Amino acid sequence: MNHFELQGGELYCEDVPLAKIAEAVGTPVYVYSSATLERHFTVLRDALVAEGLRAPLIAYAVKANSNVAVLATLAALGAGADVVSEGEIRRALKAGVPPGRIVFSGVGKTAGEIAFALQSGVGEINVESEPELNLINKVGQELGLRATVAIRVNPDVEAGGHAKISTGKADNKFGVSFGEAERLYANAANMAGLRPVGVTCHIGSQITDLAPMAAAFAKMRGLVERLRAEGLPVERLDLGGGLGAPYFNTPEPPAPDAYAAMIAQTMRGLDIQFAFEPGRMVAANAGVLVARVLHIHERPEGRRFLVLDAAMNDLLRPAMYDAYHDIRPVKPRDGEPAAYDVVGPICETGDTFTRDRTLPPLEPGDLVAFMTAGAYGAAMASEYNSRLLVPEVLVKGAEYAVVRPRPTYEDMLARERPAPWL
Ligand SMILES: *Cc1c(COP(=O)(O)O)cnc(C)c1O
Repeated sequence: MNHFELQGGELYCEDVPLAKIAEAVGTPVYVYSSATLERHFTVLRDALVAEGLRAPLIAYAVKANSNVAVLATLAALGAGADVVSEGEIRRALKAGVPPGRIVFSGVGKTAGEIAFALQSGVGEINVESEPELNLINKVGQELGLRATVAIRVNPDVEAGGHAKISTGKADNKFGVSFGEAERLYANAANMAGLRPVGVTCHIGSQITDLAPMAAAFAKMRGLVERLRAEGLPVERLDLGGGLGAPYFNTPEPPAPDAYAAMIAQTMRGLDIQFAFEPGRMVAANAGVLVARVLHIHERPEGRRFLVLDAAMNDLLRPAMYDAYHDIRPVKPRDGEPAAYDVVGPICETGDTFTRDRTLPPLEPGDLVAFMTAGAYGAAMASEYNSRLLVPEVLVKGAEYAVVRPRPTYEDMLARERPAPWL
C-alpha cells in the first residue's frame, strides 16, 4: 500500500500532484510520501507487538534512504537507526534519533568511527569479526568506556534476490560462524572495554520467502540458548532487516503480519529483547523518481529509445542489480502502448533502465515516475558525468517541502580547487 495514486487523470503523491512538484523543483526529482513511510513503520511495529514481542527496537536501516527529513519522520514514531558509518550516526542524531536507539553495523568500522560512536552513546555496536572485537575493546579502554556490543553471526543460509545483496552465506564478508560467535562472546565478557549484550544477523535484502529467514532465526535462537547455558547473559537478539518490497515483477513479499507470526513461532518461550533493522520494506514504496521524457528516438533496426533526463547516477539499481522499477506516466494519455528501451543521457550502455518494456503512450515533454524508488535510490545517487545531485522532496498531505535542494553548478565546482602548481 502506498500513497501514489491517480486522481482526476494524473498521478499524485498524497494530495499533491507530482506534476506540480516537477514544475516547481525541476526534474529529475525524488518525491517521498510521509504517510507511506509512517504506515510501513507502524504496520511492522504493530504486527510485532500483536505477536507479544517485548518492546521491539525497530532500527530503521539508514542506508536505504538517509535523508534527514525521512529519518526525522520515522524518529517521531519511535524508530531507532541501524547505521554503517559515522556519517549515518551524525544523520540519525541530527534527525532526533536517541543515541541509545542507534545500532552501528558494518564490516570495516575505523577506530575513529568507533570512538565517535562510543562518545555519542550509541546503543549497540554490532561486531563483525575478531579483529574488530579487539579494536572496539581497545578504543573502549582508551576512552575509559565499555562498548555495548552484539556479535554478528553469518547463519550460512541462502536468501536475498541478487548476489550483490545476499549477505548470509558463509562465503560473504559479513559476520562470524556460530562456533566463532560462542568463543568471541565468551572472550568479550572478559574484556575491560566491552559489554556483550546480544547476537545479531542480517541475511540479505529483497527477501520474498520466509523459509530461509525462519531457518536462520531458529539457528540464532539455538545460539542464544547455548550462550545462556554457559552462564553468559544475553539480553538482545537483533534479527536484521531484509524483508522485500513489491516491485511488481517479483513474487509478493511476505506481509509484515506473516513475518511477525513466523518470528513469534520460532521464538516462542524465549524471553529476550528483539531488534529489527528494516530498510527497504519501510522506504521503497514511499518514494518515486520523477523524470521527463527528452526524446523518443526510433532506430531503423527497430529499437525505440525513450530518452529521459534521469540517469543511472540518479537511480543506480537497474544498472547495479538488474532491478525492475515500474514506470508510469504522470499524466496518462489515451492511445496504444508501445515497447521502449528506457535510457538516460549518460555516456555508457549501462545507463539503461529497462529494455523492451511495454509502456502506455508517451510524448517528448511528458513526465514519468519510477515507482518503488524510495529505498536505495537517492541514497546511492552520485554526480557521475557531472550531473547535479538529484533533489528530494517530502510530501505530507497537501504540503510538500524540498528536503534536499538541487545544488547549483557553482556549489558543485566550489568543492574542488586547483593544485598549487597549476
Ligand atoms: C542493509 C542492511 C539492513 C537493511 O536491509 P533491507 O533489505 O533494506 O531491509 C539491515 N541491517 C544491516 C546490517 C544491513 O547491512
